Amino acid sequence: MTLHERYADAMMKTLSPPLAVLVRGEGCYVWDENGTKYLDFLAGIAVNSLGHAHPDMVAAAQQQIGTLAHISNYFASPSQIELAERLKRLTGAGDAGRVYFCNSGAEANEAAFKLARLNTAGGRRNRILALNDSFHGRTMGALALTGKPLMRAPFEPVPGGVQHIETSIAVLEREIDDTVAALFLEPVKGEAGVIDLPEGYLRRARELCTKHGVLLIIDEVQTGAGRTGKWFAYEHSNVLPDAVTLAKGIGGGVPIGALVTFGATSDLFLRGQHGSTFGGNPFVTATSNAVLGVIERDDLVGNAARRGEQLRELITRIDSPLISEVRGRGLLLGIGLSEPVALKLAAAALAEGLIVNAANESSIRIAPPLIVGDAELADFDERFRAALASVTSSGLVSANR
Ligand SMILES: *Cc1c(COP(=O)(O)O)cnc(C)c1O
Repeated sequence: MTLHERYADAMMKTLSPPLAVLVRGEGCYVWDENGTKYLDFLAGIAVNSLGHAHPDMVAAAQQQIGTLAHISNYFASPSQIELAERLKRLTGAGDAGRVYFCNSGAEANEAAFKLARLNTAGGRRNRILALNDSFHGRTMGALALTGKPLMRAPFEPVPGGVQHIETSIAVLEREIDDTVAALFLEPVKGEAGVIDLPEGYLRRARELCTKHGVLLIIDEVQTGAGRTGKWFAYEHSNVLPDAVTLAKGIGGGVPIGALVTFGATSDLFLRGQHGSTFGGNPFVTATSNAVLGVIERDDLVGNAARRGEQLRELITRIDSPLISEVRGRGLLLGIGLSEPVALKLAAAALAEGLIVNAANESSIRIAPPLIVGDAELADFDERFRAALASVTSSGLVSANR
Protein backbone atom coordinates (compact mmCIF):
# COMPACT_ATOMS: atom_id res chain seq x y z
CA MET A 1 0.00 0.00 0.00
CA THR A 2 1.17 3.53 -0.71
CA LEU A 3 1.47 6.05 2.11
CA HIS A 4 -1.61 7.83 0.68
CA GLU A 5 -3.62 4.58 0.90
CA ARG A 6 -2.41 3.90 4.43
CA TYR A 7 -3.36 7.47 5.40
CA ALA A 8 -6.85 6.96 3.96
CA ASP A 9 -7.21 3.73 5.97
CA ALA A 10 -5.85 4.91 9.28
CA MET A 11 -6.62 8.59 9.72
CA MET A 12 -9.95 10.00 10.94
CA LYS A 13 -12.14 11.24 8.10
CA THR A 14 -12.07 14.83 9.38
CA LEU A 15 -9.53 16.05 6.81
CA SER A 16 -9.41 16.08 3.03
CA PRO A 17 -6.82 13.78 1.38
CA PRO A 18 -3.25 15.06 1.89
CA LEU A 19 -1.69 17.04 -0.97
CA ALA A 20 1.60 15.20 -0.54
CA VAL A 21 3.50 13.16 2.02
CA LEU A 22 6.41 15.30 3.19
CA VAL A 23 9.58 13.88 4.65
CA ARG A 24 12.13 16.68 4.99
CA GLY A 25 12.53 20.46 5.03
CA GLU A 26 15.26 23.07 4.92
CA GLY A 27 14.79 26.84 4.94
CA CYS A 28 11.79 27.73 2.74
CA TYR A 29 11.75 24.35 0.97
CA VAL A 30 10.25 20.90 1.72
CA TRP A 31 10.65 17.53 -0.02
CA ASP A 32 8.09 14.77 -0.47
CA GLU A 33 8.50 10.98 -0.28
CA ASN A 34 9.49 10.87 -3.98
CA GLY A 35 12.18 13.51 -3.62
CA THR A 36 10.15 16.30 -5.25
CA LYS A 37 11.11 19.73 -3.91
CA TYR A 38 8.53 22.43 -3.09
CA LEU A 39 8.85 26.11 -2.24
CA ASP A 40 6.79 26.41 0.95
CA PHE A 41 4.77 29.64 0.89
CA LEU A 42 2.28 28.40 3.48
CA ALA A 43 4.75 27.54 6.29
CA GLY A 44 2.43 25.08 8.01
CA ILE A 45 -0.26 27.82 7.99
CA ALA A 46 1.85 30.67 9.37
CA VAL A 47 3.59 28.38 11.87
CA ASN A 48 7.14 27.80 10.59
CA SER A 49 8.37 31.33 11.29
CA LEU A 50 12.01 30.33 10.78
CA GLY A 51 11.25 27.95 7.94
CA HIS A 52 12.32 24.33 8.29
CA ALA A 53 15.16 22.85 10.34
CA HIS A 54 16.55 26.24 11.37
CA PRO A 55 19.84 25.48 13.17
CA ASP A 56 19.13 27.71 16.21
CA MET A 57 15.69 26.19 16.69
CA VAL A 58 17.01 22.66 16.24
CA ALA A 59 19.85 23.24 18.72
CA ALA A 60 17.54 24.68 21.39
CA ALA A 61 14.95 21.90 20.98
CA GLN A 62 17.57 19.14 21.06
CA GLN A 63 19.36 20.65 24.02
CA GLN A 64 16.16 21.01 26.08
CA ILE A 65 14.62 17.63 25.25
CA GLY A 66 17.90 16.00 26.23
CA THR A 67 17.94 17.86 29.53
CA LEU A 68 14.40 18.22 30.87
CA ALA A 69 11.36 17.96 28.59
CA HIS A 70 8.31 18.01 30.84
CA ILE A 71 7.67 18.58 34.53
CA SER A 72 3.92 19.44 35.12
CA ASN A 73 2.72 22.76 36.44
CA TYR A 74 3.48 21.79 40.03
CA PHE A 75 6.94 23.00 39.03
CA ALA A 76 8.43 25.89 37.09
CA SER A 77 11.31 26.01 34.63
CA PRO A 78 13.66 28.86 33.68
CA SER A 79 12.59 28.74 30.03
CA GLN A 80 8.90 29.07 30.93
CA ILE A 81 9.57 32.12 33.09
CA GLU A 82 11.81 33.65 30.42
CA LEU A 83 9.16 33.13 27.71
CA ALA A 84 6.42 34.69 29.86
CA GLU A 85 8.63 37.74 30.47
CA ARG A 86 9.48 37.94 26.78
CA LEU A 87 5.81 37.82 25.74
CA LYS A 88 4.92 40.51 28.29
CA ARG A 89 7.61 42.72 26.78
CA LEU A 90 6.90 42.02 23.11
CA THR A 91 3.10 42.36 23.35
CA GLY A 92 3.34 45.65 25.27
CA ALA A 93 1.43 44.11 28.20
CA GLY A 94 4.10 45.58 30.45
CA ASP A 95 4.53 45.15 34.20
CA ALA A 96 0.89 44.32 34.97
CA GLY A 97 0.73 41.75 32.18
CA ARG A 98 0.44 38.02 32.80
CA VAL A 99 0.82 34.96 30.61
CA TYR A 100 -1.02 31.62 30.57
CA PHE A 101 0.48 28.81 28.46
CA CYS A 102 -1.43 26.12 26.60
CA ASN A 103 -0.83 24.06 23.46
CA SER A 104 -2.78 25.50 20.53
CA GLY A 105 -4.73 28.45 19.20
CA ALA A 106 -8.08 26.93 20.07
CA GLU A 107 -6.95 26.40 23.65
CA ALA A 108 -5.71 29.97 23.92
CA ASN A 109 -9.17 31.12 22.83
CA GLU A 110 -10.83 28.71 25.28
CA ALA A 111 -8.83 30.39 28.04
CA ALA A 112 -9.84 33.81 26.72
CA PHE A 113 -13.50 32.72 26.61
CA LYS A 114 -13.35 31.71 30.28
CA LEU A 115 -11.61 35.03 31.01
CA ALA A 116 -14.48 36.87 29.31
CA ARG A 117 -17.00 34.99 31.46
CA LEU A 118 -15.26 36.39 34.53
CA ASN A 119 -15.86 39.98 33.41
CA THR A 120 -19.43 39.93 34.74
CA ALA A 121 -19.65 43.21 36.66
CA GLY A 122 -22.00 41.49 39.13
CA GLY A 123 -24.01 39.62 36.51
CA ARG A 124 -24.84 42.65 34.37
CA ARG A 125 -22.65 41.56 31.45
CA ASN A 126 -23.96 38.48 29.68
CA ARG A 127 -23.08 39.09 26.03
CA ILE A 128 -19.91 38.26 24.15
CA LEU A 129 -19.47 39.75 20.69
CA ALA A 130 -17.55 38.11 17.86
CA LEU A 131 -17.42 38.77 14.13
CA ASN A 132 -19.19 37.09 11.25
CA ASP A 133 -16.82 34.94 9.20
CA SER A 134 -14.24 34.86 12.00
CA PHE A 135 -12.25 31.76 12.94
CA HIS A 136 -11.14 31.06 16.50
CA GLY A 137 -10.63 27.29 16.54
CA ARG A 138 -12.43 23.94 16.61
CA THR A 139 -12.97 23.12 20.30
CA MET A 140 -16.46 23.85 21.64
CA GLY A 141 -15.75 27.26 23.16
CA ALA A 142 -13.59 28.41 20.27
CA LEU A 143 -16.25 27.09 17.91
CA ALA A 144 -18.90 29.11 19.75
CA LEU A 145 -16.78 32.21 19.02
CA THR A 146 -16.23 31.25 15.38
CA GLY A 147 -18.49 33.17 13.00
CA LYS A 148 -19.19 30.35 10.56
CA PRO A 149 -22.64 28.84 11.28
CA LEU A 150 -22.08 25.82 9.03
CA MET A 151 -19.00 24.83 11.02
CA ARG A 152 -20.96 25.04 14.30
CA ALA A 153 -24.24 23.45 13.16
CA PRO A 154 -23.45 19.71 13.60
CA PHE A 155 -22.16 20.36 17.13
CA GLU A 156 -24.89 22.50 18.67
CA PRO A 157 -25.44 23.30 21.42
CA VAL A 158 -22.16 25.15 21.82
CA PRO A 159 -21.55 27.39 24.86
CA GLY A 160 -24.06 30.24 24.76
CA GLY A 161 -24.05 33.99 25.04
CA VAL A 162 -22.00 34.69 21.93
CA GLN A 163 -23.51 37.07 19.38
CA HIS A 164 -21.96 37.33 15.92
CA ILE A 165 -22.00 40.74 14.31
CA GLU A 166 -21.24 42.22 10.93
CA THR A 167 -17.77 43.77 10.67
CA SER A 168 -18.64 47.46 10.41
CA ILE A 169 -18.01 50.42 12.69
CA ALA A 170 -21.71 51.31 12.63
CA VAL A 171 -22.65 47.87 13.99
CA LEU A 172 -19.95 48.12 16.68
CA GLU A 173 -21.37 51.46 17.79
CA ARG A 174 -24.87 50.00 17.95
CA GLU A 175 -23.99 46.77 19.79
CA ILE A 176 -21.34 47.67 22.35
CA ASP A 177 -22.82 48.71 25.69
CA ASP A 178 -22.54 47.85 29.40
CA THR A 179 -24.11 44.40 28.91
CA VAL A 180 -21.13 43.20 26.85
CA ALA A 181 -18.35 41.26 28.60
CA ALA A 182 -15.92 41.00 25.69
CA LEU A 183 -15.38 41.65 22.00
CA PHE A 184 -13.34 38.98 20.17
CA LEU A 185 -11.73 39.76 16.84
CA GLU A 186 -8.96 38.82 14.44
CA PRO A 187 -6.98 41.85 13.20
CA VAL A 188 -6.87 40.17 9.79
CA LYS A 189 -9.33 37.33 9.14
CA GLY A 190 -6.91 34.65 8.00
CA GLU A 191 -9.13 31.62 7.53
CA ALA A 192 -11.76 33.75 5.79
CA GLY A 193 -9.20 34.37 3.02
CA VAL A 194 -7.02 37.12 4.56
CA ILE A 195 -9.63 39.85 4.95
CA ASP A 196 -8.55 43.18 6.46
CA LEU A 197 -10.68 45.02 9.02
CA PRO A 198 -12.27 48.25 7.78
CA GLU A 199 -10.11 51.40 8.14
CA GLY A 200 -10.27 52.74 11.71
CA TYR A 201 -12.15 49.69 13.01
CA LEU A 202 -9.66 48.61 15.68
CA ARG A 203 -9.22 52.14 17.05
CA ARG A 204 -12.99 52.60 17.34
CA ALA A 205 -13.33 49.16 18.95
CA ARG A 206 -10.71 50.16 21.52
CA GLU A 207 -12.51 53.44 22.33
CA LEU A 208 -15.90 51.76 22.73
CA CYS A 209 -14.55 48.85 24.78
CA THR A 210 -12.74 51.23 27.12
CA LYS A 211 -15.82 53.41 27.50
CA HIS A 212 -18.12 50.47 28.40
CA GLY A 213 -15.73 48.26 30.38
CA VAL A 214 -15.71 45.62 27.64
CA LEU A 215 -12.64 43.40 27.25
CA LEU A 216 -11.06 43.80 23.82
CA ILE A 217 -9.67 40.34 23.10
CA ILE A 218 -7.56 40.12 19.96
CA ASP A 219 -6.89 36.74 18.38
CA GLU A 220 -3.35 36.98 16.97
CA VAL A 221 -2.95 33.23 16.63
CA GLN A 222 -2.26 33.66 12.90
CA THR A 223 -1.11 37.30 12.71
CA GLY A 224 1.23 37.37 15.73
CA ALA A 225 5.01 36.93 16.08
CA GLY A 226 5.96 39.32 13.28
CA ARG A 227 3.86 37.84 10.51
CA THR A 228 2.26 41.16 9.43
CA GLY A 229 5.45 43.22 9.65
CA LYS A 230 4.89 44.28 13.28
CA TRP A 231 5.28 41.99 16.27
CA PHE A 232 1.50 42.06 16.64
CA ALA A 233 -1.01 43.32 14.09
CA TYR A 234 -2.73 45.63 16.59
CA GLU A 235 0.41 47.79 16.52
CA HIS A 236 -0.54 48.90 12.99
CA SER A 237 -3.53 50.64 14.60
CA ASN A 238 -1.65 51.92 17.66
CA VAL A 239 -3.96 50.21 20.12
CA LEU A 240 -3.40 47.69 22.91
CA PRO A 241 -5.90 44.92 23.70
CA ASP A 242 -7.01 43.75 27.16
CA ALA A 243 -5.96 40.26 26.17
CA VAL A 244 -4.29 38.66 23.18
CA THR A 245 -4.27 35.00 22.16
CA LEU A 246 -1.20 33.50 20.47
CA ALA A 247 -0.08 30.17 19.01
CA LYS A 248 1.05 29.21 15.47
CA GLY A 249 4.12 31.37 14.75
CA ILE A 250 5.41 31.80 18.31
CA GLY A 251 6.49 28.15 18.45
CA GLY A 252 7.86 27.85 14.93
CA GLY A 253 6.49 24.30 14.82
CA VAL A 254 6.26 23.06 18.40
CA PRO A 255 2.71 23.03 19.81
CA ILE A 256 2.31 26.06 22.02
CA GLY A 257 -0.42 28.59 22.71
CA ALA A 258 -0.62 31.53 25.06
CA LEU A 259 -3.07 33.99 26.52
CA VAL A 260 -1.50 37.32 27.50
CA THR A 261 -3.53 39.70 29.66
CA PHE A 262 -2.98 43.43 30.06
CA GLY A 263 -3.59 45.69 33.09
CA ALA A 264 -6.44 44.84 35.47
CA THR A 265 -7.53 41.96 33.20
CA SER A 266 -4.57 40.08 34.67
CA ASP A 267 -6.42 39.85 38.01
CA LEU A 268 -9.58 38.14 36.68
CA PHE A 269 -8.38 34.52 36.80
CA LEU A 270 -7.99 33.14 40.31
CA ARG A 271 -5.99 30.14 41.52
CA GLY A 272 -7.46 26.84 40.33
CA GLN A 273 -9.70 28.34 37.63
CA HIS A 274 -7.72 27.12 34.62
CA GLY A 275 -4.80 24.89 33.73
CA SER A 276 -3.14 22.52 31.27
CA THR A 277 -0.89 19.50 31.79
CA PHE A 278 1.45 20.24 28.89
CA GLY A 279 1.07 24.02 28.83
CA GLY A 280 4.38 25.86 29.04
CA ASN A 281 6.58 22.80 29.47
CA PRO A 282 10.37 23.22 29.26
CA PHE A 283 10.64 21.64 25.79
CA VAL A 284 8.19 23.94 24.01
CA THR A 285 9.08 27.09 25.92
CA ALA A 286 12.83 26.66 25.34
CA THR A 287 12.14 26.12 21.64
CA SER A 288 9.78 29.08 21.46
CA ASN A 289 12.39 31.28 23.20
CA ALA A 290 14.89 30.28 20.52
CA VAL A 291 12.40 31.06 17.74
CA LEU A 292 11.43 34.47 19.14
CA GLY A 293 15.09 35.15 19.94
CA VAL A 294 16.09 34.64 16.30
CA ILE A 295 13.17 36.79 15.11
CA GLU A 296 14.50 39.58 17.38
CA ARG A 297 18.19 39.06 16.62
CA ASP A 298 17.78 38.91 12.82
CA ASP A 299 15.04 41.58 12.66
CA LEU A 300 12.69 39.18 10.92
CA VAL A 301 9.78 41.49 11.76
CA GLY A 302 11.43 44.13 9.57
CA ASN A 303 12.11 41.46 6.97
CA ALA A 304 8.42 40.47 7.01
CA ALA A 305 7.46 44.12 6.40
CA ARG A 306 9.95 44.62 3.55
CA ARG A 307 9.50 41.23 1.89
CA GLY A 308 5.75 41.56 2.26
CA GLU A 309 5.84 44.80 0.28
CA GLN A 310 8.05 43.18 -2.36
CA LEU A 311 5.74 40.19 -2.59
CA ARG A 312 2.66 42.39 -2.90
CA GLU A 313 4.32 44.41 -5.69
CA LEU A 314 5.41 41.29 -7.48
CA ILE A 315 1.86 39.85 -7.40
CA THR A 316 0.39 43.20 -8.47
CA ARG A 317 2.72 43.23 -11.49
CA ILE A 318 1.39 39.89 -12.74
CA ASP A 319 -1.00 40.60 -15.57
CA SER A 320 -3.60 37.87 -15.14
CA PRO A 321 -7.37 38.12 -15.55
CA LEU A 322 -7.65 35.78 -12.56
CA ILE A 323 -6.20 38.17 -9.98
CA SER A 324 -8.69 40.75 -8.77
CA GLU A 325 -7.02 42.07 -5.60
CA VAL A 326 -4.25 41.57 -3.06
CA ARG A 327 -5.20 41.79 0.64
CA GLY A 328 -3.44 41.48 3.97
CA ARG A 329 -0.19 42.79 5.42
CA GLY A 330 3.45 41.81 5.63
CA LEU A 331 3.86 38.12 4.95
CA LEU A 332 0.18 37.25 5.36
CA LEU A 333 -1.34 37.98 1.98
CA GLY A 334 -4.59 36.98 0.32
CA ILE A 335 -5.04 36.97 -3.42
CA GLY A 336 -8.67 37.54 -4.38
CA LEU A 337 -9.57 35.68 -7.56
CA SER A 338 -12.08 36.85 -10.15
CA GLU A 339 -13.41 33.30 -10.46
CA PRO A 340 -13.89 30.47 -7.93
CA VAL A 341 -10.82 28.47 -9.02
CA ALA A 342 -8.62 28.70 -5.92
CA LEU A 343 -8.45 24.92 -5.46
CA LYS A 344 -7.42 24.42 -9.09
CA LEU A 345 -4.85 27.19 -8.86
CA ALA A 346 -3.36 25.80 -5.64
CA ALA A 347 -3.17 22.35 -7.28
CA ALA A 348 -1.51 23.85 -10.37
CA ALA A 349 0.98 25.63 -8.09
CA LEU A 350 1.78 22.36 -6.33
CA ALA A 351 2.41 20.73 -9.71
CA GLU A 352 4.88 23.60 -10.33
CA GLY A 353 6.59 22.89 -7.00
CA LEU A 354 4.96 25.72 -5.03
CA ILE A 355 2.85 25.41 -1.89
CA VAL A 356 0.14 28.04 -1.48
CA ASN A 357 -3.27 27.62 0.15
CA ALA A 358 -6.81 27.86 -1.18
CA ALA A 359 -8.37 29.48 1.90
CA ASN A 360 -11.73 29.36 0.14
CA GLU A 361 -12.93 28.95 -3.45
CA SER A 362 -11.90 32.43 -4.53
CA SER A 363 -8.93 33.25 -2.25
CA ILE A 364 -5.32 32.12 -2.25
CA ARG A 365 -3.53 32.56 1.07
CA ILE A 366 0.22 33.14 1.12
CA ALA A 367 2.25 32.94 4.33
CA PRO A 368 5.93 32.17 3.70
CA PRO A 369 8.49 31.75 6.50
CA LEU A 370 9.69 35.11 7.90
CA ILE A 371 13.22 34.30 6.69
CA VAL A 372 12.19 34.57 3.03
CA GLY A 373 14.68 36.40 0.77
CA ASP A 374 15.27 37.58 -2.81
CA ALA A 375 15.95 34.11 -4.20
CA GLU A 376 12.73 32.64 -2.82
CA LEU A 377 10.67 35.60 -4.04
CA ALA A 378 12.07 35.19 -7.56
CA ASP A 379 11.36 31.46 -7.38
CA PHE A 380 7.78 32.18 -6.24
CA ASP A 381 7.27 34.62 -9.11
CA GLU A 382 8.30 32.05 -11.70
CA ARG A 383 6.30 29.16 -10.26
CA PHE A 384 3.17 31.16 -9.50
CA ARG A 385 3.09 32.67 -13.00
CA ALA A 386 3.40 29.16 -14.45
CA ALA A 387 0.51 27.96 -12.27
CA LEU A 388 -1.67 30.90 -13.32
CA ALA A 389 -0.85 30.25 -16.97
CA SER A 390 -1.76 26.58 -16.74
CA VAL A 391 -5.11 27.29 -15.06
CA THR A 392 -5.91 30.07 -17.56
CA SER A 393 -4.96 27.96 -20.58
CA SER A 394 -6.96 24.97 -19.32
CA GLY A 395 -10.00 26.88 -20.59
CA LEU A 396 -11.67 26.90 -17.19
CA VAL A 397 -11.29 30.61 -16.98
CA SER A 398 -13.22 32.97 -19.18
CA ALA A 399 -10.94 35.35 -21.09
CA ASN A 400 -13.45 38.17 -21.05
CA ARG A 401 -11.68 40.88 -19.14
C1 LIG B 1 -5.39 28.67 13.43
C2 LIG B 1 -6.21 29.63 14.20
C3 LIG B 1 -6.84 29.26 15.41
C4 LIG B 1 -6.83 27.85 15.91
O1 LIG B 1 -5.56 27.41 16.23
P1 LIG B 1 -5.28 25.83 16.44
O2 LIG B 1 -3.86 25.80 16.91
O3 LIG B 1 -5.53 25.17 15.14
O4 LIG B 1 -6.23 25.36 17.48
C5 LIG B 1 -7.50 30.23 16.12
N1 LIG B 1 -7.57 31.50 15.68
C6 LIG B 1 -6.99 31.89 14.52
C7 LIG B 1 -7.09 33.31 14.10
C8 LIG B 1 -6.31 30.98 13.75
O5 LIG B 1 -5.76 31.35 12.59
